[in-house]
Amino acid sequence: MPYTDLTLRPARPTWPAMLNGMKCRCPNCGQGKLFSSYLKVADQCDVCGTEFFHHRADDAPPYIVITIVGHLAVGAVLHMEMSSTPLHPLTYLWVMIPLIILSSLLLLPVTKGAVVGLQWARYMHGFDPVGAHDDFEDDGRS
Ligand SMILES: [Zn+2]
Repeated sequence: MPYTDLTLRPARPTWPAMLNGMKCRCPNCGQGKLFSSYLKVADQCDVCGTEFFHHRADDAPPYIVITIVGHLAVGAVLHMEMSSTPLHPLTYLWVMIPLIILSSLLLLPVTKGAVVGLQWARYMHGFDPVGAHDDFEDDGRS
């Protein structure tokens, strides 16, 4: 079994874990559900028992979604503005706003799953069964 570093932790392939997370599946087995509701990460996998409550996705998924959707929306609006037939301003309101909201809502679980998968694969934030410490936990030494 390949090891990632001197801690002798087994390697967790990053891309398959992120892809499983993007499919809203467990980053470890790819079978169990990652979310218990729309954006609430389940405490653990119902198939393999991998614990998910260690994740700290925090604001990363919304930032990623804003970056992706913002660039696509601005590009689409600029393309429509540069087209030969000008569109009525209300067209932007009735087409672009719902499209932006819908695409953001669809991308949020996908990006959150990818972030949780990345954290699991890289042993971040308590996903390390050996270290099992949290960056924000008080270890009593301070
Ligand atoms: Zn699992």
